[in-house]
Amino acid sequence: MEVIELSLPATNRLATEYMEGAFPVHEAFHPCSFEERLHELQKRTYARDALVDHLLAYHKQFQASEETIANIEKLRHRESVVVIGGQQAGLLTGPLYTIYKIISIITLAKQQEQQLRVPVVPVFWMASEDHDIAEINYVHVAQRGKVKKHVYSPLAKEKRMAAHIELDADALKQWIDDIFKTFGETNVTNELRTYIYECMATSKTVADFFAAIVLKLFAKEGIVIVDAAHPHLRAIEREWFMTLAREHEAITTALQTQQRHLAQLGYEQSIDVSPMCAHLFYDDGQRRLLYYDDEQHCFYTKDGVYRFTRDELRQRIESEPQSFSNNVVTRPLMQEWLFPTLAFIAGPGEIAYWAELKRVFEHFHWHMPPIVPRLSLTLIERHIATDLADVQMTVAEALTNGTKQALEEWVRNNQPVAFDETFHEAKKQIAHIHEQLRQLGMQVDPHLERVMLKNAERVETQIDYLQQLITRRMLQKHDVHVRKYERIELSLRPNNMLQERVWNVLYYMNRYGLDFVDRLLHVDYRWNGMHKIVYL
Ligand code: ADP
Repeated sequence: MEVIELSLPATNRLATEYMEGAFPVHEAFHPCSFEERLHELQKRTYARDALVDHLLAYHKQFQASEETIANIEKLRHRESVVVIGGQQAGLLTGPLYTIYKIISIITLAKQQEQQLRVPVVPVFWMASEDHDIAEINYVHVAQRGKVKKHVYSPLAKEKRMAAHIELDADALKQWIDDIFKTFGETNVTNELRTYIYECMATSKTVADFFAAIVLKLFAKEGIVIVDAAHPHLRAIEREWFMTLAREHEAITTALQTQQRHLAQLGYEQSIDVSPMCAHLFYDDGQRRLLYYDDEQHCFYTKDGVYRFTRDELRQRIESEPQSFSNNVVTRPLMQEWLFPTLAFIAGPGEIAYWAELKRVFEHFHWHMPPIVPRLSLTLIERHIATDLADVQMTVAEALTNGTKQALEEWVRNNQPVAFDETFHEAKKQIAHIHEQLRQLGMQVDPHLERVMLKNAERVETQIDYLQQLITRRMLQKHDVHVRKYERIELSLRPNNMLQERVWNVLYYMNRYGLDFVDRLLHVDYRWNGMHKIVYL
């Protein structure tokens, strides 16, 4: 697979500047080398054995690979560290960027293991406690040349967290078969379908299904998954939940101070929390954010269902840690407390909100881990490369401007000579003639003015129609050429977004083989924040 690089803006300014090296990193992060970070981590202690025991038990149900088990075991060693990153548990792994995040984690972990000569374990933090199911209950497919959201209907109105939603095997199989139909049959379709069915067989919930696919796709690389909602993990986290519950005011103050600092530097705020937020959720089947009431000295949920004194909250955390979970501010702190984090792999949104957490980390006398932007890729299929050449467009043009302008320009250049001008002139002359007719009418009855103006409008609409009719016929005549622009757009800029934010990996596995991800993983990527164009 050949790769070229391109500088592309990210989804927010802070991340774009961070990736280009233009962001003043000391203002919002604790930049350091991996060696320095390793030294720092080696002075700290972690609940390594409890974590390893839990991870071994968790991975059993998926019949995880030997490599994954060996990686988990490595975490027992005092000198081992992790490269970590995470995402929600999207159906069929969600958009390609999740795959790219995992590839980033694995690639960086391998490189640093060689460099630092300590075990570096690749860990994926699955945000299975997320209850924003509308974000994960579909994949996009192409239908009649358009991007279409294909929703798994049992999840259409779901409000529970991904870790608690059981799979409906029949409905899921039907939903998957419908997706495969849109891809078209290839010589690996059957094998791929079996591959996915096997993942279903080891999964009880939506979160399990995600984990099963990821563990299979990256089996040889030994990826390790942390199921953030797992009750056994929560039991390990109990101690830190206690600290977070005690420190919530200091957390908010530190967050707000850093947010003001970034605002003064001209950056938009990413994290939006109320000053009363206690940064923890309480979950009794429904996930509710906890707030703190300064006057009554107690924690409460907005709907008034729960009120806890400090002591009551401590008791709850003690007796039912599985009911507590982190918000956007405390999740990174939990990760930092649980794992010896050599590096955090971040998407553009995460880079922007982690920038607001610098002082929160400092409050706990920690430095933030080095934050490494995940790889960002566009895959160019052979036939798309041919289309680009045929319409004489570069990938850079297609990615930055899309194909719409280029197609319009091509139409202008290929229509009859002076096409637009002739129509423009015709309209002008007709308007002039019509005005003379209106004057006649006005002489007879001034009340006719409105109806005559309406008539002028109709005549003009007819001319517009004629112009569109001829243009349409011309596009039909050149259909093969026009379709090329549409195919490029659909493949590279679906819904006006980067391909990695829309398309799913199964399409590519169906076309390019079950080892597609493996091959993508072995491309030689450079960590320079540039967008990678990968030719398939
Ligand atoms: P065709 O399949 O005839 O090329 P489409 O308009 O359906 O026409 O698709 C145009 C291009 O968009 C495809 O050739 C392919 O490169 C890309 N594409 C279509 N569907 C998907 C998908 N589900 N995932 C990724 N890319 C897709």
